[in-house]
Amino acid sequence: MQVNLRSFKQKVRYHQKTMKRFLGKIEKNPPKGLDKLAEKIDAEVWKEVDCLSCANCCKSMSPTFTTKDIKRIAAHFEITPNEFKEKWLFFDKKDKDWMNTSQPCQFLNLKNNMCSIYEVRPDDCAGFPHLKKKKMVEYIHVHQQNISYCPATYKMVEKMQSQL
Ligand code: SF4
Ligand code: SF4
Repeated sequence: MQVNLRSFKQKVRYHQKTMKRFLGKIEKNPPKGLDKLAEKIDAEVWKEVDCLSCANCCKSMSPTFTTKDIKRIAAHFEITPNEFKEKWLFFDKKDKDWMNTSQPCQFLNLKNNMCSIYEVRPDDCAGFPHLKKKKMVEYIHVHQQNISYCPATYKMVEKMQSQL
C-alpha cells in the first residue's frame, strides 16, 4: 500500500503521545509471548506498507555507520574510510556513533526513493525499523522514537494496541 506522508504526519501529531505511553507500559510489564506477536505483526505490516512510496527514514533520519559499514562503503567508492568520513559523516560524541552530516541521506535517489548503495548499505538501514528484533522489550525505546518517522512502526503499534 502506498504511504501518504502528509496524512501520516497528521496522525502522528494526534496519536504519538498515547502510542508512546502504550509502549512504555509494555516495556515495564511485557506481556507473555511478545516476541511471537511482534513476528506475526511484522508480517502483517509489510503487506500493508510500501517503503518505496515512503523513504521517510532516509529523508529525515540518519543511520548509524559502524566501522565495518564505513570500510565496506568506502571500498565501494574506491576511497579510504577517512575520506569517506570527511566527505559525509560526523561523530556524535553523545551516542558515540558515526552519522550522516546531512539529510536526506546523500545516497537516496529522490526521484525513485531507492538507495543508490543498496548492496553495501549500513547494517542499520538493512535492519530498519527493527520490528521483530529480539527481545522486543529491549527495542521499545527505539520504537518510541521511530513512531514519529516511520509509518511501518506506527502501524505495528496500532496493531499491538488492538491485539493486546
Ligand atoms: S544508505 Fe541508503 S538505505 Fe541507508 S539511509 Fe541512506 S539511502 Fe537510506
Ligand atoms: S522503514 Fe519506515 S520510514 Fe523507512 S521507508 Fe519503510 S515505512 Fe518509511
